[in-house]
Amino acid sequence: MIAKVEPLTTARALRGPFDYAVPGRLGEVDVGSMLVVPFGRQRMLGVVVGLADQSDVPAERLVEPLTALDPEVPAELVRLGLWVAEEYCSTPARGLGLVLPPGTGRGARPRVKARKALSAELLTPGREALLGGGPALGERQRTALETLRGGPVVAADLVRASGCSHASLRSLAERGLISLERVEQARRPAASPRVGARGEGEPALSPAQAHALARIVERFDGGGQLLLHGVTGSGKTEVYLRAVAAALERGRSAIVLVPEIALTPQTAGRFEDRFGDQVAVLHSKLGAGERYDEWVRLRRGEARVCVGPRSAVFAPLPDLGLIVIDEEHDSSYKQEQDPRYDARHVAERRAAQAGAVLVAGSATPRPESRLRLERIELPERVDGRGLPPVELVGMAGVSGALHARTREALDLVREREEKAIVLLNRRGWSNFLSCRVCGRVWECPHCDVTLVLHRAAGSVACHHCGHEENAPSVCPDCGSVSVARHGAGTERLEQELEALVRPLPVFRLDSDATAGRGAIASVLERFDRAPAGVLVGTQMVAKGHDFPDVTLGVVLDADSTLRFPDFRAEERTFALVAQLAGRSGRGSREGRVIVQALDPAARALRHAASHDSEGFLGGELERRKVLRYPPYGHLIRVVCSCEEQGPEAEAADAVRAGLDLQGVMVLGPAPLFRLKGRERSQLVIKAAERGPAVAAVRAAVEAAATEHSRRGVNFSVDVDPQ
Ligand code: ADP
Ligand code: ZN
Ligand code: ZN
Repeated sequence: MIAKVEPLTTARALRGPFDYAVPGRLGEVDVGSMLVVPFGRQRMLGVVVGLADQSDVPAERLVEPLTALDPEVPAELVRLGLWVAEEYCSTPARGLGLVLPPGTGRGARPRVKARKALSAELLTPGREALLGGGPALGERQRTALETLRGGPVVAADLVRASGCSHASLRSLAERGLISLERVEQARRPAASPRVGARGEGEPALSPAQAHALARIVERFDGGGQLLLHGVTGSGKTEVYLRAVAAALERGRSAIVLVPEIALTPQTAGRFEDRFGDQVAVLHSKLGAGERYDEWVRLRRGEARVCVGPRSAVFAPLPDLGLIVIDEEHDSSYKQEQDPRYDARHVAERRAAQAGAVLVAGSATPRPESRLRLERIELPERVDGRGLPPVELVGMAGVSGALHARTREALDLVREREEKAIVLLNRRGWSNFLSCRVCGRVWECPHCDVTLVLHRAAGSVACHHCGHEENAPSVCPDCGSVSVARHGAGTERLEQELEALVRPLPVFRLDSDATAGRGAIASVLERFDRAPAGVLVGTQMVAKGHDFPDVTLGVVLDADSTLRFPDFRAEERTFALVAQLAGRSGRGSREGRVIVQALDPAARALRHAASHDSEGFLGGELERRKVLRYPPYGHLIRVVCSCEEQGPEAEAADAVRAGLDLQGVMVLGPAPLFRLKGRERSQLVIKAAERGPAVAAVRAAVEAAATEHSRRGVNFSVDVDPQ
């Protein structure tokens, strides 16, 4: 038999798969088997992507794989990984890298293995001995046997618990009272922290929820792709929970994608509460061993529900019946490194492949989903409460970060001892510094952007590359000691709010305040537990948290995101404001929302203020249709970068010239700002059809990249850039 093997190499130019002759000694080899193969003079790990009876390679040149490794990747995922590589202009090795067991690495030997430990189990003679029917037992041996009545225990733990030594355990085993065997021990991650409101048990569904569930369940035979469009607090999560239960009842498994576990521990927690050990939760903070073991638990069907961020779309679950995408508008579903896949698009493919139902849910769905998926509506909050009134206030001519209306509202929160959430999408203290005498502006030496002051850290930092230097007290150009600070970030706002609402506590949630492991959950938990207070932070505060007692939501500089030259700017702004508004008034007290903006008449803000996502989507879809933006066309972005100035632009020109494609629009090359010490030039290709455009771009990039003179140029291709 011939195995077609895709070697896991970083080299873009290598085009597999390569044929290997499979000898009988390797046992069963199938699509998804991982083989160590001789490759030139090296050994390499490869994945079997196909089988054949014969090869075009002459028999005397065919070589045999050296060994096969455990565990195998499901064939379905091999296909999916290769599809991702194709769809996002990446390489087969990188596409397959997404579906391999965690910790596989590229070497000929996986970095992570199953953990085995000596485990003790009570045997029948042991049980009899405990009842007095067998040989005499020492006191500690008796304790050890008693402990084992509850089930097998790791020997080391048993020694600790019973005080019985390893030697005497061994003697119990020799006497046939217990067995001692090395068995695999799954490393289980800790449960998600408990934050925010948690429903007790299973609430009776509202009529709208019951209807939504029925619509999902009727698709279990045959599959389908649905959009659960429900306002914030309409009980979407409860519908997901019931849909997962329904899948399990039918012997199927389920994947639940969530934006970021660290930011939304509450959602993951609700699934753990409902389904217990059947849930495997994957998140970025897991150790390599834990991740590997959760993967194996899923692969074996021991865990039937996987909750995790975008990479969980590749979870090795057999009999997949349901994929849920929670908060489907969230930008974290797109991976920003090669392969630059979008988990939402991959989920559609995987669901279709497996005959599973896909449910994407959001209060602020993307225009793409609104157009293409079948919509189920949850128009009202479960508790019958209305959505909070939203007030738009103009900031033109206002000095300081807070409008008088906002100050008044915060003052009321202080007086009534309530809770507020304040969103400002900018970290740090001041967003740029300049010299009052010579006008010098502090910029990153590696990127063409200004440095942001972080006062507590005493430094200025680049938010693009992480470059940091001491905060300046003197201008190095003119010696002046007068340095002006412009703009405000969350760090400064925190201080201003503290002064305003004292004695209520202020909690800050941004990536500076929450650098350590578990820090985000801890801030959320403290805010949740406090009887009153203010949570201030970046867009992190607008994620699906459910704090029942927040009465005021505030968005500062709400239209700052509209000033980016990006066709998704309106969509993002709308979602951010509507989501933050959704955090307010979820409990017994009425909520309200204030949105500060330079131009409060902006379309995205007006629709967000009236909670009108249908109105917003209608206008947005029309605009995109005229401009042929997604979902009415496809965008592909090619960025060429180089340490020197010049080659990057020349390379972009070459890609453009090499594009052999009718009926597409090519924008650029246009220079981008320097990033991490690299000059950049960008091309954007707008095409009606995706497949031919991706193929043409791939061919043009590969042709341009092979040119020897462009060795220093890096080419990155992003299909459906965000
Ligand atoms: P969404 O995901 O749409 O924002 P959630 O599912 O988080 O909404 O529901 C909001 C709150 O309402 C949660 O605390 C949840 O436990 C509760 N809830 C959901 N469905 C019901 C129901 N049918 N009856 C009572 N409470 C419910
Ligand atoms: Zn100066
Ligand atoms: Zn930088």
